[in-house]
Amino acid sequence: MKNRKKVLIIYTGGTIGMKKTDKGYAPVSGFFKEALSRIDDLARDDVPLWELYEMSPLLDSSDMTVSEWNSIAEVIYNSYSDYDGFVVLHGTDTMAYTASALSFILDGLDKPVVLTGSQIPLSEVRSDGRDNLITSLIIAGDGVVGEVCLYFSGKLLRGNRATKMSADDLVAFDSPNYPHLADVGITIKYNYSAIAEGSDGGISLKPLSNVPIGVLKVFPGIQFSLFESIMTDKLSGIVLETFGAGNIPGGGGELIPIIKRAFSCGSVVAVCSQCPSGTVSLGAYETSSALKGAGAVSGADMTTEAAVAKLYYLFSIGIDKSEIKERMEQNLRGELTLI
Ligand code: ASP
Repeated sequence: MKNRKKVLIIYTGGTIGMKKTDKGYAPVSGFFKEALSRIDDLARDDVPLWELYEMSPLLDSSDMTVSEWNSIAEVIYNSYSDYDGFVVLHGTDTMAYTASALSFILDGLDKPVVLTGSQIPLSEVRSDGRDNLITSLIIAGDGVVGEVCLYFSGKLLRGNRATKMSADDLVAFDSPNYPHLADVGITIKYNYSAIAEGSDGGISLKPLSNVPIGVLKVFPGIQFSLFESIMTDKLSGIVLETFGAGNIPGGGGELIPIIKRAFSCGSVVAVCSQCPSGTVSLGAYETSSALKGAGAVSGADMTTEAAVAKLYYLFSIGIDKSEIKERMEQNLRGELTLI
């Protein structure tokens, strides 16, 4: 008889396990366990053996914070040697943020950590949760991928490259700047050349501190002066979501002095693009050259989710701002493409 792999399912909340209440869908303790008990296929011997760990409190993922990211990572770390892989069931709204954060917190990972969820609760007849859960369990048991990834509707994506693309399609996620780690149809076709090599140095935990991070999306007519006080005094890390390849309105006339002051106060500004696909290239246009000169760093082709998580991480590991700046532009966990 085949030696069945063992997977820990960590249920954090999210639509997949939600119950319909008078006020709309909400996570209710114990409800998801009951929904699982009605799926006979979860006991088949071609599905890994699994155990369920329910986080408390269960959350709609819009309520996730750094503290929950650390708690999920701790559960994985504390039971790491007892399981072959992990499935984290999570709401879709901030799943890409949590996937990015876990990729930084879980240093030296060499087992699959697969985040998934659903757009329709498991308890409903048309739920997409059944396939997302069963396929994630199989991927977690396969052990091919030794990194944090996100499985949704036939696509296995690198966690810190994934982004939620649709509020209502069942195919809700993609990773526009990185190939899929696997495409799932009749079989699971792993894309071996895109999968990171698992670490062999052992896992360690790098918990995040709740440092003040901000995201500022530029738009035509933006009055940067309105944001000056928070950018210079209050925020440690700022993700600036710019147009296209890193362009800002007004040639930076108003923004550049603010970035310079923010940098001298200890803040790091990372420049990402509002376009889901493609890369920031500071200096490609006159409107972006000045950003670099002022001390901003290029977020290259990172998602905003990855850039936010990376700022939390770098500000949590006790390095100074010039090293944070340097590492923001390096590829630490497969989150950006070096050109
Ligand atoms: N609001 C839900 C959540 O993110 C949406 C979902 O799970 O799809 O928790």
